[in-house]
Formats: sequence, structure tokens, C-alpha cells
Amino acid sequence: MKKEIIDRFTSYVKVDTQSDESSETTPSTPGQWTLLHMLEEELKAIGMQDIQLDENGYLMATLPANTTKDVPVIGFLAHVDTATDFTGKNVQPQIIENYDGSDIVLNEALSVVLSPNDFPELAQYKNHTLITTDGTTLLGADNKAGVAEIMTAMHYLLRHPEIKHGKIRVAFTPDEEIGKGPHKFDVAAFNAKFAYTVDGGPLGELQYESFNAAGAQLTIRGKNVHPGSAKGKMIHSAKIAMEFQHQLPADEAPEYTEGYEGFYHLLSIEGDVEKTEMHYIIRDHDKEKFQERKEFFTQAVKNLQEKYGAERVSLELNDQYYNMKEKIEPVREVVDIAHEAMSSLGITPIVEPIRGGTDGSQLSYMGLPTPNIFTGGENFHGRFEYVSVDNMEKAVQVIVEIAKLFEEKA
Ligand SMILES: [Zn+2]
Repeated sequence: MKKEIIDRFTSYVKVDTQSDESSETTPSTPGQWTLLHMLEEELKAIGMQDIQLDENGYLMATLPANTTKDVPVIGFLAHVDTATDFTGKNVQPQIIENYDGSDIVLNEALSVVLSPNDFPELAQYKNHTLITTDGTTLLGADNKAGVAEIMTAMHYLLRHPEIKHGKIRVAFTPDEEIGKGPHKFDVAAFNAKFAYTVDGGPLGELQYESFNAAGAQLTIRGKNVHPGSAKGKMIHSAKIAMEFQHQLPADEAPEYTEGYEGFYHLLSIEGDVEKTEMHYIIRDHDKEKFQERKEFFTQAVKNLQEKYGAERVSLELNDQYYNMKEKIEPVREVVDIAHEAMSSLGITPIVEPIRGGTDGSQLSYMGLPTPNIFTGGENFHGRFEYVSVDNMEKAVQVIVEIAKLFEEKA
């Protein structure tokens, strides 16, 4: 199976599918169409049914049930786009067989080295087959490892009709990295009771708690006057911006928090005397604390409005996604079965809250409870990204096992 996984994965990563926040189209970039069309052909070739690629680049297919039992329809999802943080153009995957635990020179000329000194978790991958970059691009294991795993699992089930399962739906989706993954996802057409995104990192990851998330844009308008005659007249917008930041608790920021600790994060600040713009994100797993954070933030704006005038400071605050836990806990079996699938394969499930969101955070609120499982990848979104083929194989087995368990328990 390893060769099959390597062939699929390396062919997918060679297609540049980097998404683009500034684009108005869905998918945001034409490269995503290229890969989606490739996957559409492949779904046909392996014998999947009801293959549909809609006008927004959502590719869905069915593996029909091969049991008479009444099994809930489950789905598996992965996204075809890659991160905006780093280039995904001309990816040249390097295959390292039987990794010996030493430094991996990704690029001799540019002296880019993937070293256990910087990435101690590499020690766990001794004797694994690894796929890395050539040091000049990201790899795109996020999330093409998930695409390859779902495809390989479906192909395996099609070749092994003795493994009984209910109806399984798969979907390959665009633009996850720009937060738009689920925006045009047709939940009714997908028509599954539960789904899993195969979009996690290292072996064993099983996630069903995400942040509650909001984004805020602050615009501060000052008044510029010649510095020589500014006394009592100049209003300095950048200094008001600094005053705003100082109202927020300094230690409630990403660089000081972990686990279930929420934060305010200043994403960007740009300004001068006349005008300053600040972008923030607000995150908390807890619904009430999330609400309190938004109120605290809004109050900090009001304080400045009282001091400098309401017209000087304006705030736009919008919710982005919510903690999927609320929608998944009532259907706990979706997590329990994934847990059992991993355990029965000798994989220790790592159940930890995501300090971020997944497509599942939005899908769960659209009526499709969707936890997230591992792909086997590490260091997503940069040149040090790599994936263990051995753990990709385990992800394939987990998908097969989940399908089996739903049938057995029906
Ligand atoms: Zn991803």
C-alpha cells in the first residue's frame, strides 16, 4: 500500500493549488481546478459512484453500502488547496526511505537542513519512509496527505468487498486555507450523518474542540498639524492605537497561552498621525469567556471614544466560527468510534483541543458534525513540512476501520 500512497501523494503535490485570499472566485485559484479534475478522473477509475464536481469546485463521490444493515451514512473530507503563507509552486518532493534519525539536507545550495536539533519529534520517525520538500517550497501534506489517504482507503474498500460497510461519502473541497472551505459546501447534497476531516497532523490526533473565533478591525482617525504648532491641536492616531493595545491584558496573547487559554492577537497594525488601522483576532474555547472577551474589547474601544470622541475610533467586530464541541458532544459516538478505530490499530489517540479551527468548525454548525483526524504530516505551511508514509498508511487503516465499526455497531 505504501507505493500506492507515495504515487498518489507525490502526483497531487506537484500541482500548485495555493489559495488566494484576494480572489473573488471559488475556488480562489485555477490550480485547484487542475487537481480537482485529476481527482474526478481518479474517482471514476477506481470505481466510485455518483461523482459530482460542482461549479464552485466541490468534488463529491459515493462508495455504496455493501451491507443490508441500516448503517448511518458517514463522510470523509480533505481540502485540495495549500497555505498562503509559503509558495506551493514547483513542489519537488524528496523521498527518504528508512530514515536513520540524522539531519536531512533539504537543499544543499541554500543550506536548508531539517534537523532533529530544531525538530526533536523527528526521532519518532526513525526507520519510517519520509517525504520532504527540496527546501524551496511547502510540501502540501496539508492537506494532500488527507486526499491521498481518503482516495487510497476508498480504493482499498472497493478491492475488499469482504469488508462490510454502510454508504460512504467523500468530498474534496477548495479554499480551506483562506477560511472559506465550507462556505459553498452543499451539506444537503453531501447527505451524510457524520463526517471526518482528515486534516490533522501527527499520528493519533483526534480533535473535536476548536476555538470560538472573531475578527476585529479598528480604524483610528487622528488630526495632523505641523509639529511646530501642534500643541493642543494634533491628535495622534498611532499613539491612540498604542493606548488601545495597552488596555488589553498583555499575557492573553498567542505567545503566552496554550491549551484552553484564549487570547487577543494583534495581527497587524499600520498607521501614522492621521490614520491607523489595527487587525485583531479574538479566540476562546469557552463560549462565555469568548463573549466576555468580545465585550471587554468593545469596552476598550468605548473608553477611547469617550476620551477622544466617538468619531475618532471605529470598530468592526465579526464572529468567524464557533467551537464544534457543542455540536459534536450530542453525537459523541462519532468521536468514540474514531477513538476505538485508532486503539484497535494500536494507535494511541491524542485528543486535544485545536488552537484554531478546521472546516469541521463551520460544517458542524451547518448540520454536519465533523471531527478531525490525523494525516501523519508535520510542520505544515512551510519549507520544513514533511510527512511519514508509514503514518499515512495508518491513517488509511483508520478510515477503513471507522467504516467497519459503524457497520458492526449498526
Ligand atoms: Zn489543512
